[in-house]
Amino acid sequence: MMMDSMQTPSATRTSPEISTDIHTDILLLGGGIAGLYLLKLLSNLGYDCILIEKDQLGGGQTLQSQGIIHGGLKYALGGNLNAESDAIKEMPDRWRKLLAGGETVDLSNTKVIAKTQHMWSAGKFASKFTSFFASKLVRGRIDKLKKDQMPALFQAPQFTGSVYKLTDLVVDTPSLLNNLCQGVEQRILQGEATAFSSNETGTITSSNVTLSDGQSIQIHHQAVIFSAGAGNESLTNLAEIKDAPMQRRPLHMVMAKHNLPYPLYAHGLGTGSKPRITITSHATDDGKMVWYLGGEIAENGIDRDSESQIIEGKKELNALFPWVDFSNTEWATFFVDRAEPLQQGLIKPDCSYAHNERNVIVTWPTKLTLAPNLGDRVLALIEQQGVTQNTYSNELSRFPKASIATQKWESLFV
Ligand SMILES: Cc1cc2nc3c(=O)[nH]c(=O)nc-3n(C[C@H](O)[C@H](O)[C@H](O)COP(=O)(O)OP(=O)(O)OC[C@H]3O[C@@H](n4cnc5c(N)ncnc54)[C@H](O)[C@@H]3O)c2cc1C
Repeated sequence: MMMDSMQTPSATRTSPEISTDIHTDILLLGGGIAGLYLLKLLSNLGYDCILIEKDQLGGGQTLQSQGIIHGGLKYALGGNLNAESDAIKEMPDRWRKLLAGGETVDLSNTKVIAKTQHMWSAGKFASKFTSFFASKLVRGRIDKLKKDQMPALFQAPQFTGSVYKLTDLVVDTPSLLNNLCQGVEQRILQGEATAFSSNETGTITSSNVTLSDGQSIQIHHQAVIFSAGAGNESLTNLAEIKDAPMQRRPLHMVMAKHNLPYPLYAHGLGTGSKPRITITSHATDDGKMVWYLGGEIAENGIDRDSESQIIEGKKELNALFPWVDFSNTEWATFFVDRAEPLQQGLIKPDCSYAHNERNVIVTWPTKLTLAPNLGDRVLALIEQQGVTQNTYSNELSRFPKASIATQKWESLFV
């Protein structure tokens, strides 16, 4: 971190017409769901913001996510109904409001690919979850379906288990990111912060950024938000932030690409207290469908190589749906880390995270679902810091812009 003793409050200055010095109220580093949601929220509230993305928007975890906006019921399986389930349970309704438009963050151009999510259990496992399905927590949030109401896949006579409908929804993540970029495209630059300058009190007053075309710019700001997912680790080191350690929880995701007429958005219950498998379905550019497999198979597959994980994926789908012919299915896998605030025992965090140290806010949404909740926390910290709203005459059109990444199923099947 560089020290700069000649600071004037950037909020009261305007930038020269064309200069490598840029002035903004809030600088965001990292353009996944956290950075883009916060950019949109804070810009709409009147703050001047600039976001720097190192690579491509959403290319970390966000476009790899299953897009499920869930109320946390899957964490309450096995009767363990605690505060964790409370923190997230308002989220599907909150998202429905955002998706309807008219909120500060208007998500009305985001595609919803499933308005409901399902949970199924093969007959022999159903009794294990009796207390879960009977609990107060699930009341009004889960409906047991009759055979003719079930997704087509489960209407086969061979399926003898139970299917439940959840109030959760699934969003198309590229359209979500597209929606969040609308109107702020010029403010999303591609580059990387290489150094921070601070004044004598430790406040970071400017960030040196190398843009992807090699230009170097100095961004003067009142507050900096680290929204770089796994990249927060190196940013906190660079800025000497002491109290925001990170953990990674790896996954080995499986993709099964086919022509089967079964779009499925469902958690399959097994014998454990986590879903044995979570399946979401995504249309591919070549007119097929990918079943994207998460849950236990992805968590337990981190020590398998891709070939062994594909064998496991085939075994799992054949065991779960023996009446379906998967012989014309193409397979691919990839590893991805969930980046989160460090928890004792490396367990899953309960809620979104925003840590304020000097004028830096380190964020991890911990779930796509919790982005609005993260927005509330960050906004409260920005107001607490006393960040003021200003208008600057920055000329941003000449700087390289970050584009939205593509999803793995468009790049990994060749
Ligand atoms: C496989 C998988 C499935 C998931 N499914 C779901 C789900 O269904 N529902 C749900 O609610 N949650 C889900 N999650 C969790 C959710 O995806 C993440 O919590 C969320 O996407 C994290 O967003 P983020 O913006 O913090 O990080 P990211 O999406 O990783 O974005 C960080 C961005 O910062 C950029 N960056 C990195 N370093 C720097 C730097 N130094 N400077 C500038 N930019 C930088 C990266 O290139 C990246 O674009 C899933 C996660 C995974 C991995």
